[in-house]
Amino acid sequence: MKYERPDIKETGKSFTELIKEFKSAITFEEADKIMDKINSIRNDFESMKIIAFINYSNDTNNKSFTEEQDFFDNNNPLFTDYVMEYYKALLSGKFRKELSEKYGHHLFEVAEVSLKSFSHEIIDDMQKENHLASEYMKLKASAKIMFNGKELNLQELEPFMESKDRDERQKAFNSYWKFFDDNKEEFDKIYDKLVFLRNDMAVKMGYKNYIELGYARMKRMDYNEEMVNNFRENVKKYIVPLAEKLRENQRKRLGLDKLMVYDLFYQFKSGNPTPKGDPEWIVDQGKTMYDELSPDTREFYDFMFENDLMNVFSRKGKADMGYCEYIPKYKSPYIFANMNGTDDDITVLTHEAGHAFQAYASRNFHFKEYTEPTMESAEIHSMSMEFLTYPWMNLFFKEDTDKFKYSHLTGSIKFIPYGVMVDDFQHWVYNNPGASHDERKSKWREMEKIYMPHLNYGEIDFLENGGRWQKQGHIYESPFYYIDYCLAQICAFQFWSKAIHNGNGEFKNALKDYIKLCEAGGSRPFLELLKLANLESPFEEGVIKKVVSEIETYLDSVDDSAF
Ligand SMILES: [Zn+2]
Repeated sequence: MKYERPDIKETGKSFTELIKEFKSAITFEEADKIMDKINSIRNDFESMKIIAFINYSNDTNNKSFTEEQDFFDNNNPLFTDYVMEYYKALLSGKFRKELSEKYGHHLFEVAEVSLKSFSHEIIDDMQKENHLASEYMKLKASAKIMFNGKELNLQELEPFMESKDRDERQKAFNSYWKFFDDNKEEFDKIYDKLVFLRNDMAVKMGYKNYIELGYARMKRMDYNEEMVNNFRENVKKYIVPLAEKLRENQRKRLGLDKLMVYDLFYQFKSGNPTPKGDPEWIVDQGKTMYDELSPDTREFYDFMFENDLMNVFSRKGKADMGYCEYIPKYKSPYIFANMNGTDDDITVLTHEAGHAFQAYASRNFHFKEYTEPTMESAEIHSMSMEFLTYPWMNLFFKEDTDKFKYSHLTGSIKFIPYGVMVDDFQHWVYNNPGASHDERKSKWREMEKIYMPHLNYGEIDFLENGGRWQKQGHIYESPFYYIDYCLAQICAFQFWSKAIHNGNGEFKNALKDYIKLCEAGGSRPFLELLKLANLESPFEEGVIKKVVSEIETYLDSVDDSAF
């Protein structure tokens, strides 16, 4: 895949001309053809932007990669401006009826919601916002932590945070959070600037604060703040107590008086489940798994494997993140991760492969609106894949397989209170854009006591003072992108229930639904996609309760003391 910096002036010129032609097209066929051309330009630009991002996240110290990332931080908002002109032309065009017969009405809904999230006046602010997000990413990637005589980055330190040796994991925790403590002014400063900028953008566009704009930027169209609030309330009621019970079980299992923050990652006295091979071996085992899962996943994984599209080995300077990107010009997904020898390596393989499989399955749509679903839908693909691959976990975990599944399922439950808290916190932040650093931190700590009352931070003052959120990239880089994981998890649990828990012949049907969902990509809004895949909406009264009580009953039947 060749990278070439696009000429933004030339791109803009051809784009503007095509929009003119689109507006004056005489027949529907002509308009449709021009639309194709417009989308080809978009796909080219988008592809270069993604390759630049991949290069940068792969080596944040590389000067030329940084320059290219800077170029897109500056120019992507300008490009978005052209895309908005396209959306306007699409919405007011004379062939709207014919186009929506061919492509469905959702494209027009996306155009509408996108226009709500953009205006010329905020281009400057968007550029600044991009630079700040890159700065944050760089700051985290700059971590060089001396531990046991070795220099480690944040992800390389993580395996020690779940060490069997309590002193070692405590030491690892201290070192990890010392990095954040040492840089807290910098983290505070970046976030301050981001919050002010976002609030400013919203006010300039006539919104009361950033929340409504944030929802529009996430392209949420069939649910709102009130429904999300209600979802969080249900989590407090039905999931927080179960998550707390699981923590209490963990404490008993480990035989500790008090579960401290540095014990949280350490699940079992016999040690956490670990993959029985290195990253290369893992990627190789993945081949057998996806071969056997279905012909569709086989074709997909062969494509990833043969084209070397999985960059999963940890290295210094590599950004502390895992993601899947789709490069439309090559109709090709790309997986990025930092495998580090923990069971996360497998979850990365299944999670990011779920995203990548969807990208591959919906690659024949020619435009971004349909190849890239909104995030709460996209996370169903990834999180459900984590469950649908359960029958192959023995390939990776051997004697640790049951332990892994128990740890993964309980981990998925325990994640949700944290997930909705990240969302709750951001609502508070953008409702109170003038809050000081300390006010933000004490709000966070206050929320932790509601959502995760088991937390004992001991001597780590940085955490006791409410600083934990500063490691959560989404809070800086993609505001309000978090509840998506929680909504999607409730859907993924339904796949667990159908395909795994109630197994017996249901696996094939559930997999069919899953593939149908992936193929539909982003061609429908969230709630319609759920219907297509025979999933119940997490917003529906009673759904959380039902889904979670089935898991609780199952977990109660497992003898976790045996692990
Ligand atoms: Zn994901």
